[in-house]
Amino acid sequence: MSPAPVLGLFPAEPDPVAGCPTCRDLARQREAARAAGDGSRVSDCNVLIRAHPHGPRPGGRRG
Ligand SMILES: [Zn+2]
Repeated sequence: MSPAPVLGLFPAEPDPVAGCPTCRDLARQREAARAAGDGSRVSDCNVLIRAHPHGPRPGGRRG
């Protein structure tokens, strides 16, 4: 069996960045929009999550 193509009608949705309250909130809004069947809003949340700026990955020991 070959894997399903990733590119197609259903673009991958961005994952909220762990530890980012804004991304987390957007993800929750996306879930609510999906539950409500509002595909337009789901897409909007995806765009916002993708566009949300984040600095360098956390985990450094700077203190
Ligand atoms: Zn974020």
